[in-house]
Amino acid sequence: MSVAGNTDSPMYVPEENRKIARERAGRHVEMIRDYLEVRDRIPAGFKLWDRFQESKLRILRVLNGTESDWKDYRWHLKHAITDTKILAEIVDLSPREMQDITQTSTQYRWQISPYYASLIDPQNRDCPIFKQSVPTILEYLDTEEIPDPYAIVYNSPAPLITRLYADRLIINVTNICAMFCRHCLRKKDISQADMIYPREDIRAAIDYVAGCPEIRDVLITGGDALALSDDYLDWILAELGKIPHLEIKRLGSRMLATLPQRITPDLCAVLKKHKPIYLNTQFNHPVEINPDSERAVDLLIQAGVLVGNQSVLLKGINSDKNVMKKLVHELLRIRVRPYYIFNCKKLQGIRHFRASIQDGLNIMENLRGYTSGLAVPTFIVTAPEGKGKTPIAPAYLLNINRNGKVLFRTWAGQVCEYEDEIPEQQSAH
Ligand code: SF4
Repeated sequence: MSVAGNTDSPMYVPEENRKIARERAGRHVEMIRDYLEVRDRIPAGFKLWDRFQESKLRILRVLNGTESDWKDYRWHLKHAITDTKILAEIVDLSPREMQDITQTSTQYRWQISPYYASLIDPQNRDCPIFKQSVPTILEYLDTEEIPDPYAIVYNSPAPLITRLYADRLIINVTNICAMFCRHCLRKKDISQADMIYPREDIRAAIDYVAGCPEIRDVLITGGDALALSDDYLDWILAELGKIPHLEIKRLGSRMLATLPQRITPDLCAVLKKHKPIYLNTQFNHPVEINPDSERAVDLLIQAGVLVGNQSVLLKGINSDKNVMKKLVHELLRIRVRPYYIFNCKKLQGIRHFRASIQDGLNIMENLRGYTSGLAVPTFIVTAPEGKGKTPIAPAYLLNINRNGKVLFRTWAGQVCEYEDEIPEQQSAH
């Protein structure tokens, strides 16, 4: 018998209560109405797949490559686009734009993987892929001087190490990336010759970790950790695996977004040997998420690697609450957990990408409660001078007093008074 008319069923709900529930659900739907109206108009990679395939064929013609080359990440690295004339055969560029790119490249290096170039909308200057990959004169004209936002001189106790916290640290293994993102916070490292750091320096970094029993978590990054060969990565992970107090290894790589072909069965066989491994990547816009990225994530998951996403809040790219909501939904769809949204640092050459902290708060306000908790990342403002990541969230707690009375507001804006327990420390006195 259906639960609808069965008053003995624990799931029985009287019709008048159902009516109240339906009205309530309707009010909640109205709260996301603006998103529902625009969500299908926000460009997304799964829908743009046919256009990407056309671009791929054009790029293969320009670079004289084949379909099988396209599947090979080494071909993409070897044929990374660094020449304005070649770029102009792929994207419609005016003579002025070509001149600007050339001028900006005297200050900042640029490079785009053929794969990432295939995601560019060739005529649209608002294309989020174009903005992240093609240099603009605004970089060159930004002379705000913050030479070392990581304050690396005070945070590197051993070669290649950045240490900002008590129980975890970074080993920087390379400055190579598949693409040099225009908003990169490591612009100054990237703007040098390509370097995979030598074994003796990495050995010294691993020895430092071995000598610090409090370190339980190491992040291998660069540049891009997956710019290393499978063998070199295997060696580093194996050496780290010999350190008894090290509980987890993390990899920092943007290749899921910029060169998903790098995620091969061979690489995954290496990663599978060294669990637990977490990989944090950086998707910044739903256009970057498509069947290629999904295939790459599937391979990683089969190898037991857990994938999280760290977006950078980028003005005019993802600083819109609905675009960010679409992004986190698309991430979950391919089984990537939204982890952080970083604000853009005050670094020379990226000022035009910087959105305000208030913009970030508006995005967070529009996520928490308005969508699955699993889709809600933490908004992080990186404190100056290497003082660490600071989570910033809308204020839900309005007041808390000694007598256990707590005043807060819900995600939907209702103010509630809550009778809490007396805090333990206080009741003991
Ligand atoms: S992949 Fe990361 S490190 Fe490399 S250029 Fe892009 S943001 Fe910078």
